[in-house]
Order: sequence, then structure tokens, then C-alpha cells
Amino acid sequence: QGADGVKWDKAPCRFCGTGCHVRVGVKDDKVVAIQGEQLAEVNKGLLCVKGYHVGGILYGKDRLTQPQLRRNGKLETISWDEAIDVIAKRIYDKPEQFAIYGSGQWTIPEGYAAQKFIKGGLSNNHIDPNARLCMASAVTGYLSTHGVDEPAGCYTDLDECDVLIMWGNNPAEMHPVLFSRVIDRRSKGEKVTLIDIGTRRTRTSEYSDEYLEFRPQTDLAIANGIAHLLIENGTYDKQFVERFCNFRKDTEEASLFGQASTFEEYAELLKPYTPEYVSQLSGVPVDKIRLLGELFGRKDIRITSLWCMGVNQHTRGTNMNRLLHGIHLLSGHFGKPGDAPTSLTGQPSACGTAREVGTLAHALPGGRVVANESHRRDCEEVWNMPAGRINPKPGYHTVKMWEQFCTPTEEGGDISTVWVQVTNPGHTLPHLKKHFTNKAGLKDKFLIVSEVYPTATTKLADLVLPAAMWVEKNGVYGNSERRTQQWFKMVNPPGQARDDCWMTIAVARRLFEMGHPGMKDKDGNFIFSIQDESGAEVPVWEWERYYEVNADKQLFEEYRKLTYLKHKDVAPYDELVKARGLRWPVVKKADGKWHETPFRFMEFSDSYVEKGKQLQFYHSVTKDDKALIWFCPYEPATEEPDEAYPLWLCTGRVLEHWHSGTMTRRVPQLRNAMPHAYVEMHPEDAAAQGLGNGDLAVIETRRGKIELPVWLNGRGRPPKGTVFVPFFDENLLINEITLGDIDPISKEPDYKKCAAVVYKR
Ligand code: SF4
Repeated sequence: QGADGVKWDKAPCRFCGTGCHVRVGVKDDKVVAIQGEQLAEVNKGLLCVKGYHVGGILYGKDRLTQPQLRRNGKLETISWDEAIDVIAKRIYDKPEQFAIYGSGQWTIPEGYAAQKFIKGGLSNNHIDPNARLCMASAVTGYLSTHGVDEPAGCYTDLDECDVLIMWGNNPAEMHPVLFSRVIDRRSKGEKVTLIDIGTRRTRTSEYSDEYLEFRPQTDLAIANGIAHLLIENGTYDKQFVERFCNFRKDTEEASLFGQASTFEEYAELLKPYTPEYVSQLSGVPVDKIRLLGELFGRKDIRITSLWCMGVNQHTRGTNMNRLLHGIHLLSGHFGKPGDAPTSLTGQPSACGTAREVGTLAHALPGGRVVANESHRRDCEEVWNMPAGRINPKPGYHTVKMWEQFCTPTEEGGDISTVWVQVTNPGHTLPHLKKHFTNKAGLKDKFLIVSEVYPTATTKLADLVLPAAMWVEKNGVYGNSERRTQQWFKMVNPPGQARDDCWMTIAVARRLFEMGHPGMKDKDGNFIFSIQDESGAEVPVWEWERYYEVNADKQLFEEYRKLTYLKHKDVAPYDELVKARGLRWPVVKKADGKWHETPFRFMEFSDSYVEKGKQLQFYHSVTKDDKALIWFCPYEPATEEPDEAYPLWLCTGRVLEHWHSGTMTRRVPQLRNAMPHAYVEMHPEDAAAQGLGNGDLAVIETRRGKIELPVWLNGRGRPPKGTVFVPFFDENLLINEITLGDIDPISKEPDYKKCAAVVYKR
């Protein structure tokens, strides 16, 4: 505490998956100052404009402070006791029809408690995070390449690479602090070549040495074109491939692990992808395709590829992830700092809570899956639950869950109650009329929403629960580079707002008291039994007692027991308290200290790699320590422009707002900097419709239409034939008209391309 009475503590930023660390200044139970954390390796004292204003997100004027139940169409204030009762009764009556829809913004203990409640308590597996909408294809890409999820490299790759290739992403706006690490190197005179492969010019293009504009969906062909050139020119890394790789191709029915293939078959399948053919498909000039092939063929440089939503939100997102891993493996640009293919996450704990904890509908903690009997037994043992408690059938993935919820029960819609925590599906689901808003006409469906502010989702909620956020509670997040970050509660939440984790435990306890068998362990004890130092159970389901002990720590330590199977060993909670995040696997060595692993599978960094192996994919699909190089063909998009809908519509984010803007739109500086959504057009497309800058245009797809002001020659510059709309604005909801089609393996929707027509209002 300083002389000014301000007390400082550490926390990760509340927004993106970069995971910058901030110093939070608190005075009189209020966050009064934010600084970039100098001690943090991720950001070294820097923050982006959202990070500098992160404290302001707590203090919007319309914070939700009371539980509210909808009666006769109107939300009325009720007590927490009644709210808990309402939820418990809905579940008790139809546990198989109850689902939780969560988020990559859940803290690790929150997500862990929610998935244990559903999978171990209710045995139905109907839980999925919104991360399904943003990085599920990265998960299936890593799994089908390395046999285990999450990147091998880390952000240090950005400090070491000679070439940075950005595939359909815009880190200058979406991961600005990461991007600045490279720009900073260049400003110090280091040579780093930046290549932006995108479908529209962005701020990232402005900094790039090469901007390669491709026709949407043809990234698949470009990646195949690079592999083709590596083989044709004989510049692939033969020794690396023979020592560390096997080959795979897709089966007729898309599957996670496909079927075995050979180098010869792979080379044969790639033959059609000549630079000329790829250029014809993609619109990227032949010499630029050759440039990419030549770069990957060089052994004297290090290449890092970054991607994010452009690759993941793709009806062939899994395949595109596989192909990017494949060109790095084929060329040997893997296994050294600076040589890495990495998918970035958009949410602060998409890796930590969605992927590592296993809040996805098919998953269990620590990289386990519900379909595997021994994985289920591991969890049942740690949870002291009888064998067979966990259902082997995966629950509904996000799009399916909402389809079932929005389908009348009599027509087979077998999800009747959804509890939404820490996310805003009424804004972010694709094709909202199909997946969300038609709930309004369904009388037997019940929507529970834990939230901080009124949102597009709370508008249709039957029960609204006021939630604590960020430093109003204890938490642990896991960022894009396997770094687990802890923080403590610093201020009290307003009114009766409470922790999401507490809400889950309180509902579980009410069900326990009602005699629900799933809320008891083998010895008849409550499944969320939290103890004090003497071992006596503390009734943490009573809010007044919740912070008597650190429930977060106990849940995290329970979760930690499940992290070893796939070598995702997180550090002990007390070590995380001391650190600014630690990258797993975190291993205790002979010196008695806990050591993180910046580079996974690599002998120089990863203590799980056997001596002398150099590189070891120790969870290899083929059980021989090798990774898989996939052949996946170029396939056209599900919906392409035609005569009636002649333009590509792409959606995305902007620097100032985070996702659906519920937090950032409450911060005046951010709201004023970017007050509303717009449609970016090419000036010629606009002129053809008589549209000028600022004019209101109608954007129409086969799913409906909305009106937006036109922005020409602005921050983003789409090519002729493409329009772009950011999705942050709840008054101009582009997701009413986006496509709902999903990748067949990851089940992630494509928000980046569908056919649209734009005309003057
Ligand atoms: Fe860092 Fe992302 Fe927060 Fe910006 S929004 S400060 S880049 S974590």
C-alpha cells in the first residue's frame, strides 16, 4: 500500500487470450488505477487500449445487482434463496433436459465446478463453452496432429522468428500486445519479415512486408500449394519428416484421426496444387505462392505462423489447422524457438477453462474424454464417485444444444432449461433467429442467465442472476501459450452480485438437500465439500461463508490431480500465487523448485522428452512419438456468392471492443472511440449501389437483413466483392444473418463467409 492509500495487486487482463498481466490499484473498495505489469513476461509492462481501461468495466451504471425472475413477462426482483430454489426444481424435475452453456471467460475453478456438476452430478454431459464458437477447430487440429491439444511453442517464438506469417488474422487489433513484440524488434533494427495472408486489408497489413489477398475459403489451396512446392522443389526436410512424422488423409466421412497414408500418396494427392492452379483458385499471384514455398524451403530462417478466427471459424477449420501444422512439419520449421505454428485464442481462459479443464461436451479434465472408460474412472476416483456415474455419451455441442433448446419439446427439442454463465449467446450465436430468438415463442423452455450487465441474452431470460466479475472474485485463467495465471479478489461486487462458482455450488447443495443422488459421493458426502484447515466442512453454499476459506484453491488443487495423464501438469496453486503465470507442464525438479515448460515436445525445454530424442510427440496418435502430416483437399465454401447474393460477408472484431462489447461499451473512452458497428465496403461496390461514406445500407443474406452505416477507405479495406461487419454492437446484430453451418469435426461455425447483397436503404 502506497502513501496515497492505493493498494496494488496482480491480475491477468480480463479480455483477450494474450493474457497480459496488470497491476490493479484499489482504494476504498474500488479499482482506481491500472498499470501494465513490468514483471510479466507476456507484456513486459505494456497493455493495449482495452487493457488500460479494464478497471472501468466494473463500473457501468447498469450493473445487475439483484436476482430477477420473469413473471407475466416482466423481470421482478427475488431473493437468492428463491432463485436457487427455482433452478434446483427445474433440474430436479428433468435433469436430463438441463444444460449449462459456459465460456472461455469462466475461471478455471468456475468451469471445473460446472463440468463436475453436470458430468459427475447430473450424468448428462450437456455442457459446452462458447469457446466452441472460436477455437474448437484449433483443438481438433492439434489433436489430430500431435495427439494432444494446445500449442508446442509459446510467445517467445515471436521474439525469435525471422518470418511471421499471419493467416487470416489481424493481431495488430486483436492481440495488439503480442503484435507489438514483433514491431518492437523491427524498431530496434532487427529484420523480421511480416506476411499477412488475408481477405481484407487491415492494420496488420499496414505493417506487413507482403499482403497476399485470397478469395475466401481458398486458404486450403494455398497451404496445399506450399506443400506441393516443397516436394516439387525437393526442399522439404526429408530427415525431419522421416524421423518425426507419419502421414494421414481424411476418410470419406470426416473423422478426427482419418486413415493412414504414405509420403508417396501425400505427394500424389498434392500434385494438382501447382502455383498456377492455386493462383487461379485463390487470386494470389503465382510469384507470391512461389515466394511462400521458397520461404518454407529455406533452412537458414525461422518461421512462425499465427492464426485465430479466420482459420478456426471455417467450415473446414479442422482441415485448415491440420494443413498449417503440416507445412511446418514437412519443411522442418518446427521444434526450435521461432519455428512454430500457433493458434491464438480470443478469450482469457479458452485454453485454461474450455480445453484444459474440459468443459466441452465430449471432454473431461486434463485432456480426457467421456467416451473413454479409463478416463471416466480417473475422474470418478478423484471425485470419490461410484464407477459408472459419468455418462459415456458426449453431450450436445453448442449449436446442437441451442437448436434443441429452440425446438419445441413435442418436436424433439429435448433441452428445456439452459443456464448461461459468463457469456452472451443472444448476441454471438450464428443465425440468431434459428438458434436463439425463437425461444421467445416456446412456453416450456426456461433460460437462466448469470450476468454482469443487461445483454441481448438477458432480454429473453426467465431468471437473471447478478454475477461478480474479474477482481471482484478469486480466479485462475489459462492463456494461449499454456500459461496459468492466478489472482485474488480485490474489491466487493455490487449489491447482491455473487461468484458464478458459488452459484453452481449453491444449486448443487440445494439438490443435495432435496435428495438428488448425483450430488452425493460414494460416502454420501456433498460433491463440493470444501474444508477448513482442521478438515471440518465449511458451508460455502451460504454466501456469507463463501470466502471463509479459499474454495478456488481447493477446487484447483482437486483439478490439478487430473492434469498429469496428458502432461498438462499445472503448478500448485501456491506457486501460481507467487508467479505472473507459469506455462505447463510445470515440473518439480531436483533443485526442489517448480519449472515451467516454454517449448513442449522439445528436449531442450520439456523434461518429459526422453534424453537423446531431440523431439518427441509423446502423445502421438500412431504411438511412435511421431506427429501426423495430413492431406486435406480444397473444397468450396458451403455458401458462395451468386447472382442474388453477389458479395462475401465476413464478420469480426475491432480493437476497442471485446467480443459482444458488454464490458467495453460501458467504458466511455472505448465506447466513444468506436460507438457503433458499420459495414466496410470497397468504394466501387458502394458506388454501384449509390452508397457513400456514412450512408445507411441494407445488408441482406438468405437469413434476413439489417441496416448499417457504410465505412469506405477506413480502418479495414475489403477487396471488391467483399464486405465486413464487426459483431460487437448489440443494436446492430450481424449474427441475425450469419451462416449457422459448422465444421463437421470440431462443430465450430463459420462466421467468416457467407453470401450477401448490399443496397441503399
Ligand atoms: Fe493484453 Fe489482450 Fe488485455 Fe489488450 S486485451 S491488454 S492485448 S490481454
